[in-house]
Amino acid sequence: MYSDRINALPPYLFEAIDEARDELIARGVDVIDLGVGDPDMPTHPHIVEAMREAVCDPKTHQYPSYAGMADFRKAAADWCKKYKGIELEPATEVLSLIGSKEAVAHIPLAFVNPGDVVLYTDPGYPVYKIGALFAGGEPYPLPLTAENDFLPDLDSIPEDVLKRAKLFFFNYPNNPTAATADMQFFEKVVEFCKKHNIIAVHDNAYCQITYDGYEAPSFLAADGAMDIGMELYSHSKTYNMTGWRLGFAVGNKDLIKGLGKVKSNVDSGVFDAIQIAGIAALSSSQACVEESNKIYKERRDALIEGLRAMGIEVKPPKATFYIWAPVPKGFTSMSFAKLLLEEVGIVATPGVGFGDAGEGYIRFALTKPVERIKEAVERMKTLQF
Ligand SMILES: *Cc1c(COP(=O)(O)O)cnc(C)c1O
Repeated sequence: MYSDRINALPPYLFEAIDEARDELIARGVDVIDLGVGDPDMPTHPHIVEAMREAVCDPKTHQYPSYAGMADFRKAAADWCKKYKGIELEPATEVLSLIGSKEAVAHIPLAFVNPGDVVLYTDPGYPVYKIGALFAGGEPYPLPLTAENDFLPDLDSIPEDVLKRAKLFFFNYPNNPTAATADMQFFEKVVEFCKKHNIIAVHDNAYCQITYDGYEAPSFLAADGAMDIGMELYSHSKTYNMTGWRLGFAVGNKDLIKGLGKVKSNVDSGVFDAIQIAGIAALSSSQACVEESNKIYKERRDALIEGLRAMGIEVKPPKATFYIWAPVPKGFTSMSFAKLLLEEVGIVATPGVGFGDAGEGYIRFALTKPVERIKEAVERMKTLQF
């Protein structure tokens, strides 16, 4: 019944964990779910208010423009200049997105032919691989390891793979490892992509979730990046807007145009009222983002203390709302996730679910109030293994 591309989808690895969790909840167990990467805090009120006003205006009720409202693209370009130091032409170098996930899935359709290789970082956001497969491309994982500070080793890729490589997806601050990259790495990516004629796509979904004074750079600020690359921004994590579906792609105008060609044939743009709310988010004070970050930081520090009590040492991440922790000796990522769930009712995501290179790790999402995280920590302290 299903197409080959659906039949070829990788198995859903979290089924066992999901089932066990649902069973515990049904039995009345107080489960603390640190599995989902979805902010628990509501969208900030000034953004909701902008939406409320916009939705009452009948002008927002018709088909939006494919590329996004001119005002939205200008607000996105202004935001990028102010916070990332990059100059963009709103009309040609910015495109509105129905969240960045659709862009990750659509970009290979614009640039990849059957047999072309799509490089992506592993462990990683699952859509890099699946988007490549849907386009008939050949996904090629680049493992992220602690020894390499969770940056891919671009020199390790075999020559025959490089010859066929067309696209490279990467993501810093990184989900799930919480690793960050500096300009030196981004410059290396530019050099690498230029040399091998590869399109660079940087997923910057977590660039505003940062701590301890860290600021996440734009890939496009690297010398020459605008020649070969694009970057994806999302309102989802920055402004607690996952449900709204809003983001934007920026970068080289021919690449933006290619993505636009796919989108204009598949979707019909973002609801104007949502774009107007998105402008409010981008153009007003970013104090609300700092507030959320303060809350995530408190949660981060609380959870790290609990991990330490279990003998797991983790350096506090500089960005993202994830903790990527090595599992204790004798466990796989799956068996440790099961232990946490069954013994103390804590849900965390086994690293292997993000790719083979995620084996040996478990991901905690800091998306529950600090009281719940402290409760999780107390439970962790009782664990025997
Ligand atoms: C959450 C997430 C996204 C997608 O977010 P959207 O809601 O589609 O904008 C993209 N990349 C990574 C790595 C993410 O974790």
